[in-house]
Amino acid sequence: MLETASRLISGAGGDMKTLDQLRVRYLGRKGELAALFKGLASLPEEERRGAGKALNEAKDELERLWSAAVESAREKVQGRGEIFDVTIPGRRPLRGHLHPITQTAMEIGRIFGGLGFETVEGPEIELDYYNFEALNIPRDHPARDMQDTFYITDDVVLRTHTSPIQVRVMEKRRPPFRIIAPGRTYRCDSDVTHTPMFHQVEGLMVGESISFGDLKGILTVFVHQMFGPHVGLRFRPSFFPFTEPSAEVDIQCVMCRGAGCRVCSQTGWLEILGSGMVDPEVFRMVGYDPETVTGFAFGMGIERIAMLRYGIDDLRLFFENDLRFLRQF
Ligand SMILES: [Zn+2]
Repeated sequence: MLETASRLISGAGGDMKTLDQLRVRYLGRKGELAALFKGLASLPEEERRGAGKALNEAKDELERLWSAAVESAREKVQGRGEIFDVTIPGRRPLRGHLHPITQTAMEIGRIFGGLGFETVEGPEIELDYYNFEALNIPRDHPARDMQDTFYITDDVVLRTHTSPIQVRVMEKRRPPFRIIAPGRTYRCDSDVTHTPMFHQVEGLMVGESISFGDLKGILTVFVHQMFGPHVGLRFRPSFFPFTEPSAEVDIQCVMCRGAGCRVCSQTGWLEILGSGMVDPEVFRMVGYDPETVTGFAFGMGIERIAMLRYGIDDLRLFFENDLRFLRQF
C-alpha cells in the first residue's frame, strides 16, 4: 500500500486536486491507513506491537511525501515568495516621449512645411566667416558686441545663431527656394532668461520679386497656426546687419490676450521673432545679383515659442531634465 501511495503522490505532477484526493484516500479519517489502524485490534497481542510500529512509520512516510508534493506544487505558482495574482494590473514600463523643445521645433517645421519650406541643417561648430562676415558683420562691426561668442580659435566659433545656414544654402543653390533651418546655438550667457545653449530656427525665402508683403503673409499664417487664428500681430521696425529693412514681430500676449500683464510688462504685446528683407550685400557675398533676386529671412528662439505655447515662465526648466516637468508634455 505504501508503495502504491508513494507512486500515486509523485505521479500527481503537483496537481492540487489529485493530491487532495490522495490525502483523503490514504490519510483521511476513513482512509486506508485509518482502516489498517482499526484492524490492529483484531491482531494477536504479540503481533500488534510490531504491526503498529510499521503502520506509524508508513503514516509518517506518507505524510512526509504528501507535504513535500504539496510544497513543491505551491512553489511552482509562487514567484519569489509572492503569491501570483493574475488579477493585479501589470507594471507599465516607463515610456519616453519627445522633449517639449523638440515637439515645438517639429510643429514649426510642420507649419512651414505646409507653406512649401524645406528643412535643412548646418554645422554647430562654424567658421567665423559664415557666422559673421558673410552676414554683413565684419570683424570691426559693432554688431559683434551684441553677441557674446564662444570662440574655439580666431576663425572657428560655436555658432551664435542659425543664420550661417542661410549663407551655406545660398552658396550651393540657385533661387527660387524656401528653407527653414532649426538647430542648437551657443552664447556666453546664463541667467533666468538666457542659457549658454539654446535653439533657433531660421527661415529664408529667395526668388524673383519676393516682397515684404510675402514676408508679412507667411509670418502671419505661421503665427495664426502656432498660437491661434485670433492672435493679433504687429511688425515693428528694427535693425539686423543682414536684413534691410528689418522688422521685429510681436504677437498679442497669449497670457492676457492683450490686456496687459506681468509676462508682457503691461504692454499687451510679446516679441517673438526678427525678420527682414535680405540685405543686397549678403546676396553679393554668395554671388547672387541683387538687381534680379530678392528675398526675406527670419529667425526665432524655439524656447521662446515653447514657453509661450505651454505657458512656462522659466527658461531653465527645459534643461534641468526634471521628469516631473517633462512628463507634462
Ligand atoms: Zn500679457
